[in-house]
Amino acid sequence: MPGSGRFAPSPSGDLHLGNLRTALLAWLFARTTGRDFLIRVEDLDRVRPGAMERQLSDLRALGLDWDGDVVKQSDRLPRYADAITSLTDRGLTYPCFCTRKEIQQAPSAPHAPDGAYPGTCRNLTPSEQADKLASGRKPALRLRAETTSFTVRDMLHGNISGMVDDVVLLRGDGVPAYNLAVVVDDGAQNVDQVVRGDDLLTSAPRQAYLATLLAITPPIYAHVPLALNSEGKRLAKRDGAVTLSDQRDLGRTPAEVLTLIASSIGLAEPGEVVSPTELADRFDPQKVPGDPWIFTSVDPLDPVKGS
Ligand code: GLU
Repeated sequence: MPGSGRFAPSPSGDLHLGNLRTALLAWLFARTTGRDFLIRVEDLDRVRPGAMERQLSDLRALGLDWDGDVVKQSDRLPRYADAITSLTDRGLTYPCFCTRKEIQQAPSAPHAPDGAYPGTCRNLTPSEQADKLASGRKPALRLRAETTSFTVRDMLHGNISGMVDDVVLLRGDGVPAYNLAVVVDDGAQNVDQVVRGDDLLTSAPRQAYLATLLAITPPIYAHVPLALNSEGKRLAKRDGAVTLSDQRDLGRTPAEVLTLIASSIGLAEPGEVVSPTELADRFDPQKVPGDPWIFTSVDPLDPVKGS
């Protein structure tokens, strides 16, 4: 029995076309493999009021559907606390008092991969910890990782071995860290297929490793290319009409935006009217483009606004 796929937006603003494309791909991967498709709102970090509602309504407007209720991470804090307790009980966590700056300036540990936490607080004695606490610093809680590398399976990238370090599990302000929450939730929600932007490919090995420590089978991944602007930078607000509502203002209907996105994946001809279900019939994971989608606000391929 397959588990579920999911789309897990952070409600920090409106979804842009690249996010909507990732959502469509996640939906297609899930629906064409007999999986449920879940929406999880990752609202532990920056939240813009009203963003969640607009994101959900944009997904609906494109014709994407999902199973069950939308889950919000802010409603699941006890689960993250349980996971942290279970790791702590096994000696797999430690408090870390480092500031970002101290981490940047610390010499990297011998044999530690580039960019890894240098391990400054890993072996503090109880009295050193007490001194730091007394100085008023609020520690984060880190994983005491017992490996430096882990391999994940990705449908688009093959087997990917990547760095594992002592990731933050609980931030200094007491908020569970993304890397912990994502693993706990995917496990609890029976998510065994994770389709998301390839900016998170390097996070997958440490998340999968953390999953194994929590007795969760790591999912199979598909890290899909991002949408970029004409300068090759990640698509952002300043790039013009990048959200569904911007596109509406230009006179494009959500159905036309769906076509635009589908044609960027090679699933529709420009101007063709398509439904997500028809796209599912045409979908071939092997043919998902490996290169980023370069989006310019007035897309020359688009017959509605094309020049
Ligand atoms: N919430 C993350 C984001 O919007 C996605 C996390 C994930 O898919 O694992 O970038």
